[in-house]
Amino acid sequence: MKVTVIGTGYVGLVAGACISDFGFEVTCIDKDENKVEALRSGQVPIYEPGLAEIVNRSQQRETLSFASAYQDAIPNADVVFIAVGTPTKDEDGSADISAVIAAAEELAPLLRGRTVVATKSTVPIGTGMRLEALFRSMVPDAEVTVVSNPEFLREGSAVRDFVEPDRVVIGAEESWAASAMREIYSPIEQRGTPVLVVDRATAEISKYAANSFLATKIAFINEVADLCEQAGGDVQSVADAIGLDARIGSQFLKAGPGFGGSCFPKDTRAFINSSERLGIRQRVVSAAVHANEARKLHLVQRVADACGGDLSDVRVAVLGLAFKAGTDDLRESPSLFVVPELVRLAAEVRAHDPVAMPAARDTFTGLNYGATAEEALDGADVAVILTDWPEYRTLDPEMLTRTMRNNVIVDLRNTLDADRLGDFGVSVIGIGRRETIDTVASHEKPSYSQAAE
Ligand code: NAD
Repeated sequence: MKVTVIGTGYVGLVAGACISDFGFEVTCIDKDENKVEALRSGQVPIYEPGLAEIVNRSQQRETLSFASAYQDAIPNADVVFIAVGTPTKDEDGSADISAVIAAAEELAPLLRGRTVVATKSTVPIGTGMRLEALFRSMVPDAEVTVVSNPEFLREGSAVRDFVEPDRVVIGAEESWAASAMREIYSPIEQRGTPVLVVDRATAEISKYAANSFLATKIAFINEVADLCEQAGGDVQSVADAIGLDARIGSQFLKAGPGFGGSCFPKDTRAFINSSERLGIRQRVVSAAVHANEARKLHLVQRVADACGGDLSDVRVAVLGLAFKAGTDDLRESPSLFVVPELVRLAAEVRAHDPVAMPAARDTFTGLNYGATAEEALDGADVAVILTDWPEYRTLDPEMLTRTMRNNVIVDLRNTLDADRLGDFGVSVIGIGRRETIDTVASHEKPSYSQAAE
């Protein structure tokens, strides 16, 4: 079976490399010729643990190749995955599927023989039907069907998630298409992973419902964290207490700066928009999105409060720019809001991230960086932990006290051992913890954070 994947981003490249590692012949297409050239010469343009090894191994075995021209990879394909981006449209929060449509329009005239076109991109409900209509009008004689095969991988553990998923969802209207898809996933199914074959709309809804549910869990625990700060509780202990209930589960109950990244913000909005188009209101998910937005406005205030309310000329070390540990992806990262806001309030910012600094240089203009965390911390009045990279968890307390001007860290990920650092004279202001009250609430509350309510 020959497989083509359109789009070599976090999803397409991982899917293409892993499917070729299963033993199928895979060609990955991207319209970005520089990316294709880099991949052909063995360079993987994104940071994703374990991916480069699989890409290089598969290229050497000649089961994986790269192309920028559709002509080179569509006519022979039995299954074509579309894995291009579907960002948010700012006007209404809907998903912009123009890249998916462009890919379908470009591949349609090249279809030969029986072909499955599978959407791996996260797409609004009804997109499969729309693509099917597009193929019928453009190439009425082509034997093609559209399958929804949503991807549930997480950046930072994408390879493992792809080869060891909790489940595979295949939304197919034709049994021959479902069989072709099952064949691709047979190495996974043989290990006992559930493969759910459902109708196309169910598969499309499942992806949005999964991400919306997880985002809601995060928004929920963050509001519990706010309560803990006022009432004198500890949010992590509350998360443990409720998460050990199997009906609730402990994952995605970590209080922090709010959900970000390339998926949750856009997929929650698209879920709301896609439902509204069908006359259904998603009140629960709308509330989660609203709570998450309001949270952003409080983040910088925590830093200002830690410095007595005024950030002008305060030296701030920002530790972590990626939206989470394990990735260089900055999309919808808290840093995109926090860093410009610190700069606007006249703070002197020096940032560090173990892998995202090259990407950040294209995003933040004029930002100063430390080549190491220690360099970013040098002379800082306050440090802010924005990403839960393991190396920040193990920062040497003696290095901190030697390097920083004031030993105050605002830990927006609750990643540090506040008690241990406290023994060395380092104050850690976390999220949803009792000590947060002592340090933060003693300052006057900001006017703009109240306005955000
Ligand atoms: P990405 O932006 O990293 O990659 C998209 C790639 O598609 C880019 O390399 C771009 O050049 C290429 N592309 C765009 N239009 C093209 C076209 N017409 N022809 C050929 N190539 C084209 O995106 P991503 O993060 O991999 O996400 C892809 C899809 O998968 C999105 O719908 C996303 O919601 C979904 N998804 C993402 C994740 C994740 O963690 N990133 C997880 C699950 C699902």
